[in-house]
Amino acid sequence: MVINRTIGDNDNDNLRQNTYNDSCNYRLFADSAMFSNGTVRCSRYQLRVNKMKTETTNRKILDLMEKRTVKFRDGAVHLSKTSKLDGVKSWSLLAKKTCPGSKNASVCNGCYALGGFYNMPTVIQPRVENQKNWKLASWVDEMVAALKNERFFRWFDSGDIYKLELAEKILAVCERTPWVNHWIPTQSWDIEKFQPILRKIDALPNAVVRASAKHVDRPIDSFQNSSVVLSGPDKASELNVTICHSFNNAGKCGSCRACYDKTAKTIGYVQHGKTMAKHVNILLSTIKA
Ligand code: SF4
Repeated sequence: MVINRTIGDNDNDNLRQNTYNDSCNYRLFADSAMFSNGTVRCSRYQLRVNKMKTETTNRKILDLMEKRTVKFRDGAVHLSKTSKLDGVKSWSLLAKKTCPGSKNASVCNGCYALGGFYNMPTVIQPRVENQKNWKLASWVDEMVAALKNERFFRWFDSGDIYKLELAEKILAVCERTPWVNHWIPTQSWDIEKFQPILRKIDALPNAVVRASAKHVDRPIDSFQNSSVVLSGPDKASELNVTICHSFNNAGKCGSCRACYDKTAKTIGYVQHGKTMAKHVNILLSTIKA
């Protein structure tokens, strides 16, 4: 059973008014939705439908939730919130499939975005939608609207710049959101066709293109800003890079925003394997104590 119209057609809040004709299947789960003051929230898909007008509509939603499948018309933008970023939202694509720069990057063999929770349908689906939707004419407008309350924004928690047209649209979004500090990590920096546009984005005062080094412990200096994966914390001083302290902060950024800061030339991320070992050691020592 599906709803073939946009729910809350008369509402403007948080609803996209038929900006495109595509529609997708979403699953609503009773335990992830709330009814309060006429608000329905499906946290699993960051899908919100506010100010439900009528009891009839609410009844329909409840019926559909029991049947577990509902069809919504949604906007063209799916932002993610990862626990690491502590509230900073991101826009992502599927890893590897959209990472042309990964071909010569040994560091991508240990990519965190190819395993674990990144294989869940709830994580895959918005990335698949994003890959389709960025090509829409309305996408830049939608991104600008989606960022209206953000101060920091990370591009590509997974995936990368894989098309020139996408890079041009990212430039447009950054230009039109001067109140947002954009962090754009990329392995595509050494692909010639992307370089002029990446440098244009990087020239904006509110955007940092952070070129990701291809190999562990081998920083690069071809871009103003970069990052490198470190085999251990001690490598940071040896390589003269700013260490990312999330490895001893339960994997979270906390209040750090160094990656969005042009003055932090190269950030070193301690490799995840070591992080995990460290956490396990701490856990074991806690248990022993
Ligand atoms: S350097 Fe700071 S902002 Fe960047 S990932 Fe690490 S904790 Fe987060």
